Amino acid sequence: MSKFFSEKYKDLIPYVPGEQPKDMKYVKLNTNESPFEPSKKAQEYALSAAKQLELYPDPDCTLLREKMAALYGIDKDEIVIVNGSDEILNFAFMAYCDNKTPAAFADITYGFYPVFAKINNVPYVEIPLNENFEIDIDDYIGINKTIFIANPNAPTGIALSLDKIEKIIASNPNNIVVVDEAYVDFGGESAVKLINKYDNLLVTQTFSKSRSMAGARLGMGFANKKIIQDMNTIRYSTNPYNINRMTMAAGIGTIEDNNYTINNCKTIIENREYTIQELAKLGFETLPSKANFVFTKNNKFSGEYLYKKLKENGVLVRYFNKERLNQYLRITIGSKEEMDILINKLIKIMEEAK
Ligand code: PMP
Repeated sequence: MSKFFSEKYKDLIPYVPGEQPKDMKYVKLNTNESPFEPSKKAQEYALSAAKQLELYPDPDCTLLREKMAALYGIDKDEIVIVNGSDEILNFAFMAYCDNKTPAAFADITYGFYPVFAKINNVPYVEIPLNENFEIDIDDYIGINKTIFIANPNAPTGIALSLDKIEKIIASNPNNIVVVDEAYVDFGGESAVKLINKYDNLLVTQTFSKSRSMAGARLGMGFANKKIIQDMNTIRYSTNPYNINRMTMAAGIGTIEDNNYTINNCKTIIENREYTIQELAKLGFETLPSKANFVFTKNNKFSGEYLYKKLKENGVLVRYFNKERLNQYLRITIGSKEEMDILINKLIKIMEEAK
């Protein structure tokens, strides 16, 4: 840290993204990316947008919002486009949390929430998941805090039903409820259909997972128009050109090619169920996942041992060295071939340990 770094950030511990090692080629199942390339149309549109990079992009993202509005059956003014959904999550902490209104989220959830709370200097409470790693909605009824719920949750993959999400929203009419749907396209139920019923709901989604665009940084928020105005106030006060031309063009191409996304999601869901079955044959217990990853443990081996051995064998998965999580591995669902490599390496590692 330099001597110039502001006092207000001196205790800030940044978010640690999953490893992106360069030492060798791994089967990369650690950051919940898609194993599929972006839609051909997305690639084509991005390439042609590259020819106009001397010009600023459209700060309103009008065409992208129009295409998205048509796809989701909502108004384009109920959408804000962001530089990855991390950006809008940060905006929500900026806009809706302060000393009077702390943030609340599960104790086991997306690790960025406490970092956003800290950088924005807002108090927060972590609400414990129950013994099955589920949210108990009674803990969220009328709590007078700005609520953040990842649905499906990470790193567990467990989804909360829409009627439970709705109970939480309805019981907190004076507070914003942010439903982070980064993984919703793999079998969850989206709350987007509730944005006109509740004026305190903000739903966030991303192109990083189901739409194969993690490298382009594109996310979105859905809410009633007043909340979208709040998000735009923050966006125009930080970075109005938050979406670059190539990303915007790729996003438009991806939406026009929506069947490609739908088919890829079907494949990931099939590969997920296949992986859970194969893991079960090896004695793994896996939480019920509605995401493009599984959270799994084997009582004969520690999470850390399996993580290290898999890495030595060229397969990267995510391991969390934290209480309640350290027995588990979080494994991204990739192609069928990648999942077979994972399973075969696990068989080898477990046999060698005998
Ligand atoms: N929410 C959750 C629960 C996530 O796991 C992630 C991905 N790390 C994000 C949001 C952010 O994704 P992105 O910024 O790529 O849209």
